[in-house]
Amino acid sequence: MNRFCQSCGMPLSQDPKHGGTHSNGSRSGAYCSYCYANGEFTDPGISAQNMQYSCFEKLQEKGLWRPLAWLLTRNVPRLKRWKDPEAARQVMH
Ligand SMILES: [Zn+2]
Repeated sequence: MNRFCQSCGMPLSQDPKHGGTHSNGSRSGAYCSYCYANGEFTDPGISAQNMQYSCFEKLQEKGLWRPLAWLLTRNVPRLKRWKDPEAARQVMH
């Protein structure tokens, strides 16, 4: 069980659905419900940089201080989905 979504870096404890779902309906311990649902990434074509930027934008929309939003999203490219695509695929099934 990861504490943070391995795609966007969001704390899984803050996910209202407590994690994404596999194709068989079981709960993913690796991804949040925004990134992963029914065994698929919700945005399969997105790049690490685009994910990082869209999270950064969302945090700022929530009113987060810009440098803090940057701090929270700077590790996105190091998460499992981006750093190790093969391992990321395996936890999907
Ligand atoms: Zn996520």
